Amino acid sequence: MAAKAEMNWLEQCGFGPKVMKRMKVCPHCGTVVDREQSVCPDCGMRLLTKTLYDCYRERHLCCDRCGTVLTSDARFCPHCGQPLYLKISAD
Ligand SMILES: [Zn+2]
Ligand SMILES: [Zn+2]
Repeated sequence: MAAKAEMNWLEQCGFGPKVMKRMKVCPHCGTVVDREQSVCPDCGMRLLTKTLYDCYRERHLCCDRCGTVLTSDARFCPHCGQPLYLKISAD
């Protein structure tokens, strides 16, 4: 699956969920920068406030507890066992 391959690639580069929360990617040139930066050091493009993780979560379903990327039909997190359907019925 493409999403899984992408996540593997990110993790191989050291981009696990914790790292991704600290990183942003320039939408213009793709340079990875610290989230504290507001302008890309490479091309000068103004950067979004969203972190790499925020962007990733918009495109992929992730576990609320541990941040593991999940398939769209997953009912439990394969990493921590969090039952995903509780998200809908909670509160
Ligand atoms: Zn850039
Ligand atoms: Zn989990």
